[in-house]
Amino acid sequence: MTDRLRIAVQKKGRLADESFAALKKCGLKFTVRGDGLLARVKNMPIDLFLVRDDDIPNFVASGVSDLGIVGENVLLEEVLSSGGRMKIDTERRLGFSKCRLALASIEKGPISRVEDLKGTKIATSYPSILAKYLQDNKIDATPIEMKGAVELAPRIGVAAAICDLVSSGATLEANGLKAFKTILESEAVLIKSLETLSPSKQDTYDRLVSRLDGVVRSRGSKYIMLNAPKSQIENITKILPGSDAPTIIPLGGSDDLVAVQAVCTENVFWETLEALQDHGARSILVLPIEKMLA
Ligand code: ATP
Ligand code: ZN
Repeated sequence: MTDRLRIAVQKKGRLADESFAALKKCGLKFTVRGDGLLARVKNMPIDLFLVRDDDIPNFVASGVSDLGIVGENVLLEEVLSSGGRMKIDTERRLGFSKCRLALASIEKGPISRVEDLKGTKIATSYPSILAKYLQDNKIDATPIEMKGAVELAPRIGVAAAICDLVSSGATLEANGLKAFKTILESEAVLIKSLETLSPSKQDTYDRLVSRLDGVVRSRGSKYIMLNAPKSQIENITKILPGSDAPTIIPLGGSDDLVAVQAVCTENVFWETLEALQDHGARSILVLPIEKMLA
């Protein structure tokens, strides 16, 4: 019973969906009910704690939970605001829930550079990260903590600028604001408590992490298959993004054509395919990769 690995994940929100999806891709079978605080994984000794994202670092640091999935923005804010007392291991960057924490102010207003912030008030839900940034950059400005609706602060005169999460910039734009400086690039990370896991939990952990690695690596990866003249193999290998050793197979009934197959770990664009075509590649197929195990 206590030997079940406990993972804290966001219950509901922008991190939750992608966290659940990543765990499901790792083969974990579970259902999240509306009001539940716990989701039991049916096919592995794992329990999911469903909480607010701000509580995840503390759950893990206190050992209530063995692992957690949380945005680096929230992790850093909680660690800084604890004055360095909160100790957590960051095990993996997970490649999803990407966003940035940025400084923004009224479009075409008097503040468009970091230097312009001197003497101003800056509204934010990340007062500790902002205070550290201001200190590191020797900017004399005052963070004003707001738990929500930060983007409304300049309009109602609470602050001249804001420091908030941005993904597309649409929310800022809708409020007449414009980002002028990114202070943190964030993505979801897997965090772990410093407590030693029991041997059986360690075993579950190792299996989970190896699968998570496979999920992270296969994201965006593609399998490319094509036919090409032998003489062009070297050029074609150079074009294939993020692949160094393609498989080359002779084609029946042809002396100079070969089949080339490769895993590409970077994005494959139409431009890539056209460049391959220019080097004589034909019958080009790009396939998604679902899982990878080293
Ligand atoms: P909670 O109720 O759990 O406290 P919240 O309102 O604080 O939720 P959300 O808006 O759900 O938080 O965002 C959770 C996390 O998702 C953010 O802290 C950030 O790491 C990440 N995130 C923010 N914006 C995006 C986005 N556009 N796409 C994906 N992930 C994002
Ligand atoms: Zn939150």
